[in-house]
Amino acid sequence: MGGTAPGGLAGRSALVTGAGSGIGRATAARLRAEGARVYTVDLQGAVDRHADVTAPGINAEIVAEAAARHGGLDILVPCAGISAFHSLEGHDDGYFDQVIAVNLIAVFRIIRDAVPYLRQSRNGRIVAIGSTMARFGDAGLAAYGASKHAVLGLTRSVACELGPFGITANCVQPGAIETPMTEPAFTAMPEFKAYFEKKAPLGRLGQPEDVADVIALLCTDAARFMTGQGFFVDGGAMTRQ
Ligand code: NAP
Repeated sequence: MGGTAPGGLAGRSALVTGAGSGIGRATAARLRAEGARVYTVDLQGAVDRHADVTAPGINAEIVAEAAARHGGLDILVPCAGISAFHSLEGHDDGYFDQVIAVNLIAVFRIIRDAVPYLRQSRNGRIVAIGSTMARFGDAGLAAYGASKHAVLGLTRSVACELGPFGITANCVQPGAIETPMTEPAFTAMPEFKAYFEKKAPLGRLGQPEDVADVIALLCTDAARFMTGQGFFVDGGAMTRQ
């Protein structure tokens, strides 16, 4: 492995999607703080590249740009995601397809398109973003829940296929984190926010940095023998019935 101390990502090149907001933004900042060179992508905001990760061919373009900018690619964090509450009847074809396109298909495509670059790395790391919604379901989140269950399955298969190349693939599964994604629901349904605060033994909602720190840890040498796993970052919420 690459000669960095545990916690250190000096000399590593990273690509983070969804990096203009929330968990992705915190992750890019944390990877940079650990010494990585980070290429950031989002629909909008202060990032290196504005792109819709569901656009045809875009993921191959993005990974090529990231690798060209920073001399290769060691770390991939596909963090772009969408979520909203809709009844089953409210899940029209367009909405369901869009959630699956962003949260699953684009994640698959960017992993696939990054493989040639990650195989050149001696420290290849993929950290996908799942959810506690890969453990349970909830009313109004049919498409989202399906997408996050699938991301965990994708991660496990990717880990099996890329392990022989020394590439690890893990899935961080956040609980309720205060970001622009959850803000509308927490504002509209304060009881929903209170429920998650109470459910977590640590007694609070998560912050983007709580998740970013674990993502960064999984990218370090300390996590070199961990792959194919899902890790709840939820203040312990999943341990309480
Ligand atoms: P966020 O603050 O909304 O950040 C997600 C970012 O992804 C936004 O900047 C969004 O842009 C961008 N994005 C959406 N669709 C995109 C597309 N087609 N192409 C490129 N970028 C796109 O949400 P977050 O809470 O940090 O979520 C990050 C990840 O964590 C997601 O995968 C989410 O499912 C997961 N997660 C979040 C929580 C939570 O409680 N917050 C819990 C479990 C898992 P726009 O804002 O312009 O749409």
